[in-house]
Amino acid sequence: MKDETLITLAGRHPEKHAGAISPPVYHASTILFPTLDAFDNQKDQEFTYGLHGTPGTKAFEEAMNALEGAAATIIVPSGLAAVSVALLAVLKAGDHVLMVDSTYEPTRILCNTILKRFGVETTYYDPLVGSGISAFIRENTRAIFLESPGSRTFEVQDVPAIVAAARARREIVTIMDNTWATPLYFKPLAVGVDLSVQATSKYIAGHSDLLLGTVSANGRTAERLKTARRDLGMSVGPDDVYLAMRGLRTVATRLKQHGETSLILARWLQARPDVERVCHPALPGDPGHEIWKRDFSGTAGVFACVLNACTREQLRAFLEPMKLFKMGWSWGGFESLITPGDPNEQRTATRWKASGPTLRLQVGLEHQDDLIADLNEAFSRLNAAAQS
Ligand SMILES: *Cc1c(COP(=O)(O)O)cnc(C)c1O
Repeated sequence: MKDETLITLAGRHPEKHAGAISPPVYHASTILFPTLDAFDNQKDQEFTYGLHGTPGTKAFEEAMNALEGAAATIIVPSGLAAVSVALLAVLKAGDHVLMVDSTYEPTRILCNTILKRFGVETTYYDPLVGSGISAFIRENTRAIFLESPGSRTFEVQDVPAIVAAARARREIVTIMDNTWATPLYFKPLAVGVDLSVQATSKYIAGHSDLLLGTVSANGRTAERLKTARRDLGMSVGPDDVYLAMRGLRTVATRLKQHGETSLILARWLQARPDVERVCHPALPGDPGHEIWKRDFSGTAGVFACVLNACTREQLRAFLEPMKLFKMGWSWGGFESLITPGDPNEQRTATRWKASGPTLRLQVGLEHQDDLIADLNEAFSRLNAAAQS
C-alpha cells in the first residue's frame, strides 16, 4: 500500500468508537480499575493512566508507526521535546555525541547547556562529512545526530554513509531529525537510522495551531525510548493529538503542493540579479541535489535564498510590507513565512559563505502568482531603498 493510502487508514478503529471514523478525544488523567486483581496487575490493562496514553493517543502512535516503519512511537509536547527525549534516552554522563553543525539551533543549545551540565560532551561535524564521520568517532561516542537537509542552510547529508560508519560500532545510536522531509519523502528507519524525530508542529499538524513532536524507534531502541518518555513524565494534550491526526490525513496532498510551488519560486529567485544564490536541494545544480535525488522521494517547501549584500534599511524595506510572506518562527502551515538570519551565528565546525542576508522561505498553499508578486514588490522596494 502506498503512503498516500496508508495515512487515510492508519489508526482507524470504528468498531471501538460507535462507527466513527476518527477516534474521539479522551480527556483523562485517571483511568479506573474494576477489580483488586486488575489494580494489582496493571500490565494486563491496555490503559492505566492518562500520562501513558488513551485510545486517541494510541491511534496516532499506531499511524506514525505504520508510516515510519517503526517498532514504537512516542508523542511528546513539541519537536524540541522529541529531540531532547531521543538524546536523553540513549546518553549518560561521560558519553560523547556527534552533532551536525547545521542542526536546528535549539538542539545545539540543549547540547551546550543541559547535556554538558550532565557530563555529555558534544562535537559538531560538517554536514557534508559523509563516511568521513569515522574520524570523529571516539571510544565513548554513543550517539550520532543527523538532520537533513540542514536547518536554514539545507545541506543534504549522506545518511546511508554515516549510518554505515555508526553501525561498525554497535553501541552507537543514530538519531535523525527528519522534520523537513517527513516520513513521506524520507524514511530514516528504512536506511538504518535508530531513532526518527519529527516536529509534528510543522507539516503533519500543518495549520500553525499546535505544538507536538514524535520519536519513532526501531526494535533496537524502542524500549529505551518508551522508558525515557515515561520516566520524564512527558504528556500531551488530547485535543492537540486529535488535530495532529486530522493533519496526518491530508499531509501528502499538502506537501506535494508546498514542494511544487517552492520549486517554481526557487527557479524564479535563482534568475534574479539581486539574489546571490538559492539553496533548495530539489533544484538541479544545488550542491545537495544528487544525494537528494538518490535518497528522497519528494521535496518539501522550505528553502533558503541568499541575497546580495544590502543594508539593514534595505532588508527592512524588503520584509516589513510583505503581504503574504510574514516573519515568524516555525513552518509547515498553510501560510507562507520568511525569516532572515546569519547561519554563522550558529556554527562552529564550518563557515557559511554569504555576502548578504540568508532568508528562509516557507512556501505556503497560496497561489504561486500571488507569492511571486509579493516577492517581486519586495525586491523593488529593496532596490529603491539602495538609491535613497
Ligand atoms: C521546528 C523544528 C523543531 C522543533 O519543533 P517545535 O515543535 O517548534 O519544538 C525541531 N527540528 C526542526 C528541524 C525544526 O524545524
